[in-house]
Amino acid sequence: MTSPDASDLAALRPRLPSPLQEVTDDRFARRGVRLLLKRDDLIHPELIGNKWRKLAPNLTAAAGRTVVTFGGAYSNHLRATAAAGHLLGLPTIGIVRGQELADRPLNPSLARCVTDGMRLHFVDRATYRRKGEAEILTGLLRRADAEEAYVVPEGGSNVPAVRGCRALGEELRGQADIVAIACGTGGTLAGLAAGLGPGQRASGVPVLKGGFLTADIEGLQERAFGGRRGDWALDERFHFGGYGRTTSDLDAFADEFEERHGVAVERLYVAKLLYGLVVMVEEGTFEKGATVVAVVTGAPFAQ
Ligand SMILES: *Cc1c(COP(=O)(O)O)cnc(C)c1O
Repeated sequence: MTSPDASDLAALRPRLPSPLQEVTDDRFARRGVRLLLKRDDLIHPELIGNKWRKLAPNLTAAAGRTVVTFGGAYSNHLRATAAAGHLLGLPTIGIVRGQELADRPLNPSLARCVTDGMRLHFVDRATYRRKGEAEILTGLLRRADAEEAYVVPEGGSNVPAVRGCRALGEELRGQADIVAIACGTGGTLAGLAAGLGPGQRASGVPVLKGGFLTADIEGLQERAFGGRRGDWALDERFHFGGYGRTTSDLDAFADEFEERHGVAVERLYVAKLLYGLVVMVEEGTFEKGATVVAVVTGAPFAQ
């Protein structure tokens, strides 16, 4: 096994900086607000969006070791890790939440992971929840025969990932007043906010229900940068009941946005972000003349 270094990662051929596209939308134009899409979904056809930004520094740090990570049955992060392993020739192991999944046919997302060479280990939910505890983690790695592996946490938001996402903010310096992004673990927002310039602010839309994310993001910034960085805040109103949850209203909104702008809308994160932005602009949240950039962090999963 050769160790991937920075030049090997270049073989992933990311399209960076990702394109910035203005869209004409009367709901924004009416308020004198410009809307631009930061097309991180175009960074790489398989290692999509913020997953490229978060994984690339981890793959360098893995230095050829097997990469172990964690996720649920439909995790974008698991799929991205498997794709990266396939592209770089690195072995990958996915520890999947839900022992019961082991006895069922794989869903299309997990099937893709396997096609990309990822070995899957299914664990019961109680154990999965405790994977952050050193003893539990050691046991899981031993069972997977991966004690020497490089471990990336669930959702991929560790220190290298957060630092890697600073580049997203840096690419947007001088281009936006507000940068809006959907949040899962918040790692991407933590890095993005740190990379923005003076006078710019970041607005996060959590797709999980819980209200714990501000503290999590502060913790990530503390570990990555030694303290809070950038001007950022969350709007917790647009989770639609939690991760993977939707409503007919949200579906109709996303269908209509796709038709109107010819951009495929990823439904777990990006749809909730765009919906939230339309509500905010109609509430008068953004000053007249403001430029709002919505980060398109991913694309729909093509089965
Ligand atoms: C993973 C993912 C996110 C969330 O990123 P975090 O860094 O965990 O907040 C947002 N959008 C898409 C499309 C994703 O796949």
